[in-house]
Amino acid sequence: MGGASALTPWRCDAGRPNPGRPGTSTGRHRSSSEDRSDRLRCRACGEAITESDARTEIAGSHAHTFVNPAGLVFEIGCFARAPGCVGVGEPQPFFSWFPGYAWRVAACGGCRAHLGWSYGDGPQFHGLILDRLVTEPTARP
Ligand SMILES: [Zn+2]
Repeated sequence: MGGASALTPWRCDAGRPNPGRPGTSTGRHRSSSEDRSDRLRCRACGEAITESDARTEIAGSHAHTFVNPAGLVFEIGCFARAPGCVGVGEPQPFFSWFPGYAWRVAACGGCRAHLGWSYGDGPQFHGLILDRLVTEPTARP
């Protein structure tokens, strides 16, 4: 019958394991150079949004690729916190890319550009569109 696919209007490529890729989060030594935290800024206005050490893994991966109903592809990264973002609107429980998490739009606190989405009634984590952020390495004198 194939009717089940009608319940998933947005395709999610993140749920599958990625056998061709070596594990990046287990069994690897953390070198001391990774202790520093890079700042991630809004590409549009330069507002500090979050930091690289706020990265977290959701559903087994930090980065996820999603396709919305219009065919646009978003590569998002999951962050435990994003103090530079502001939530827009009420949390929506429908059509979440992460089942079980209500979502709302996350906008830049500086210029209100759409940077991604916040998930969970807390919110619990943020999925930010990586292409809309710029990484600023922490300068060390
Ligand atoms: Zn901005």
